[in-house]
Amino acid sequence: MIAKQKQQLKELLKIHFAYESFLPGQEAAIDSILSGRDTVVVLPTGGGKSLIFQLPALILEGITIVISPLIALMKDQVDSLERVGIPATFINSSISLQETDRRLEALRNGAYKIVYIAPERFYNHIFLTELKKIKVSLFAIDEAHCISQWGHDFRPSYVRLKSAIKFSGSPTVVALTATATPEVRDDIVKQLGLQDSELVITGFSRPNLHFAVTPTGNGQKVSTIVNLLTENKDLGNGIIYVGTRSKADEILEALMDNGVKAVAYHAGLDASSRDWVQGQFMSGAAQVVVATNAFGLGINKRDIRFVIHHDLPGTIEAYYQEAGRAGRDGQDSFCLLFYHQQDRYLREFFIKGDNPDPKIIIEIYDFLQNRVEAEVDPKASVIITYAEIGQSLSDSVPEMAIGTALKILEREGYISRPNEKTSNSYLKAKKPWTEVLAAISPRAKSQREIATALGIKYASELIAGWDFSPEEVAVVLHFKKEALLRAVKKLAEQDLVDYHPPFRGTEIKILKQVKAEDLNLNFEELKNKAARAYEKLDEMENYVYHTGCRQQYILRYFGDHSAAPCGKCDSCLQGKGSLTASSKKAPVKEYLS
Ligand code: ADP
Repeated sequence: MIAKQKQQLKELLKIHFAYESFLPGQEAAIDSILSGRDTVVVLPTGGGKSLIFQLPALILEGITIVISPLIALMKDQVDSLERVGIPATFINSSISLQETDRRLEALRNGAYKIVYIAPERFYNHIFLTELKKIKVSLFAIDEAHCISQWGHDFRPSYVRLKSAIKFSGSPTVVALTATATPEVRDDIVKQLGLQDSELVITGFSRPNLHFAVTPTGNGQKVSTIVNLLTENKDLGNGIIYVGTRSKADEILEALMDNGVKAVAYHAGLDASSRDWVQGQFMSGAAQVVVATNAFGLGINKRDIRFVIHHDLPGTIEAYYQEAGRAGRDGQDSFCLLFYHQQDRYLREFFIKGDNPDPKIIIEIYDFLQNRVEAEVDPKASVIITYAEIGQSLSDSVPEMAIGTALKILEREGYISRPNEKTSNSYLKAKKPWTEVLAAISPRAKSQREIATALGIKYASELIAGWDFSPEEVAVVLHFKKEALLRAVKKLAEQDLVDYHPPFRGTEIKILKQVKAEDLNLNFEELKNKAARAYEKLDEMENYVYHTGCRQQYILRYFGDHSAAPCGKCDSCLQGKGSLTASSKKAPVKEYLS
């Protein structure tokens, strides 16, 4: 870059964004874009990718198109650009046809420098033709891994982008992502048809993170975690990731029983419970959140001191993303993975749930057709639970696989599911609460205690009837969730309350009637997807058994072969007396000292 241009960039950085200097990779990427080269940028989340297209947009003569799948965020992004004096707009499904036309017209007249567009727009030919009339200088693709079937978030609409680039007059392309595996990166280049592109990749190492794997005996993980936290009172805030909701509840209870302030988070919670749990953790009221992988996106707590994995994650990508939530503030933090040989089975169970056997998909479709035909009006939809579908199948199949099979049938246009029905638990007193309490046998101590606490805290809810989250109520009342539910069920059996357990089912309409064996599904692709999932699981398991530096293993996985050993993980410290990974007693204590 010539010195004058460099100076100009620095000035713009200061004037518009109030930053003194570039973050790693930003300048190299901007330089490449301004020299007219197609560029693939791989920076970790929070690495400052937006600036890489926003700054050139100011300098380049024509317009910068930004493709983003995150429609909900477009308005905010445009608003913040406008605030710093960069004229920008967006086009997505949230605006009317007239408004779209108005914005296109304004773009033709040069009223904006940046336009955010949802990729689905490129299915529309009129829109593509309109695009031809606009001078586009830069085509930026955010979340570019969405174009790759190898990525974790493939979106079919991204496949259109190659032709959209042509319709825009083949401007310079910049593709940005935080997914760094070489196969995804190569796929981005291939799918977009980029020629002689530049790659800018930096900053995946996290020097303040201490990685370790602790082999644990069967059934000893929970007690080891509890000991770790009770024996090391000054550990600070942390996340404990678990593979299942029930494990989240179990660990939560064990921690609370031992005086650790903890909350649990998983997809089974309703929106208000999730907000509450998140608030407890963010404010520091809870030291620990025990969570499934539903927790984390958008969590920007900088002082997380540890991330413990109770279960083996399915991929290195998932592990590094979750573990990487520790130590955003740059302070020493640790990432501990508990491992037992049988952990792989849970992951295989998930892979099977995500990738149902084609035979099951065919059987489900057949069953649904018969069910719908048996209705008075076969065109109407049926409401059916997953359990009911499961009972009709020749093999026992987890509900998750049934859900996936339905998703596949829906995606291919064979069925539609206008409504996924899930509901919370429901509770309503059938009598005044004093009478309810009087009816409980004096010997049922726990039931009486729980009913009394419910009556004190939720008097009006019990009279009116109430959708409740057992997790939240259990935390509020300081009981175990299982004990709470047991007590409520008993009250229902005694006809003292109305109680409905949570329901999980779906409404289904058949859209296309064919013979089940004529279902036109890409079974080959489904098989490949499952094979890839197993390969990724193997790579994750290899991490556990790796005897060299763990950080280096991860960075190599992401294609960075230049990383030096971190000097901080259990492998690097092995033999130096600082860490005994298999020690039963609080491995972290010695580890951090
Ligand atoms: P990404 O898209 O890579 O996750 P963002 O573009 O959202 O990251 O940027 C992450 C944060 O870093 C934002 O708050 C942004 O304002 C800030 N940032 C970007 N560039 C710089 C810079 N040169 N100096 C300081 N902060 C920056």
